[in-house]
Amino acid sequence: MQLNKFSLKGGDNIVLIDRKDRQYYFKLSPDKTIDLRGGKIQHKDIIGKEEGEEITSSTGERFFVFRATLSQFSLKMPRKGQIIYPKDVGIILIWADIFPGAKIVEGGIGSGALTLALLRAVGSQGEVVSYEIRKDFAQQAKININNFMGEVKNLKIKLKNIYQGIDEKNVDRVILDVPEPWEVVDHAVSSLKNGGIFLSYVPTALQVKRLVDVMRESKAFAHIQTIEVLLRPWNVEGMSLRPAHRMVAHTGFITLGRKIKANVTRNI
Ligand code: SAH
Repeated sequence: MQLNKFSLKGGDNIVLIDRKDRQYYFKLSPDKTIDLRGGKIQHKDIIGKEEGEEITSSTGERFFVFRATLSQFSLKMPRKGQIIYPKDVGIILIWADIFPGAKIVEGGIGSGALTLALLRAVGSQGEVVSYEIRKDFAQQAKININNFMGEVKNLKIKLKNIYQGIDEKNVDRVILDVPEPWEVVDHAVSSLKNGGIFLSYVPTALQVKRLVDVMRESKAFAHIQTIEVLLRPWNVEGMSLRPAHRMVAHTGFITLGRKIKANVTRNI
């Protein structure tokens, strides 16, 4: 079979979508067969197709095939602990202004959901250094990231406690998903460039309060803000045009600030 640059290949993470919009995720591997709703599909029959094409199972049921998006993949990948949800990841990327070529320090790699998005946004010219205290989390995150992106040269995982310090200097962004981010404020200040952005994701309001107090006391930040993201899907079916009955009501709060030049004092 002639493969071109659009063709689905072994190793691709794909999603099949049935006529009721149900989704089935798996990784393409030439020798495998998948059992789907009572029928079978051989992976080799998908390899060589292009995204958006149809595939028919042994029982005649038809599915559309696509590569899984980063957010679809991150919701399905094996997790250790809670991941940051795509709705929050999206806002983090733009609020923290993650740009191609940026050097980022991340605190708490977890399962790697946020890291995947950071890596993609910084691109091959950028760099992500991720601090993680748990070896098992670091290993799982690495598996997940390699699974989606292949070998990644610009990610360094350090098995270190970020509360004890950040080795890197002149970094563009410090992005945290750890329980006590106030312990990192001083380290982030010495690690960030002037104008760099510090951003922290925490699930409870008391954590936000403590973090913002410490950020203000440090007198090292301008434009400290806290936001949360409420994302409400809608049901658009015939005459039923309304918000979905369920939504993810609470995930976490995002707090950020911009580092000002040292020794500049003003009221912030
Ligand atoms: N953002 C991740 C989830 C992070 S969960 C994702 O989207 O998948 C929080 C992670 O922080 C856990 O893996 C935990 O082990 C790690 N962690 C907690 N305290 C830490 C510390 N002081 N230094 C480094 N990592 C820490």
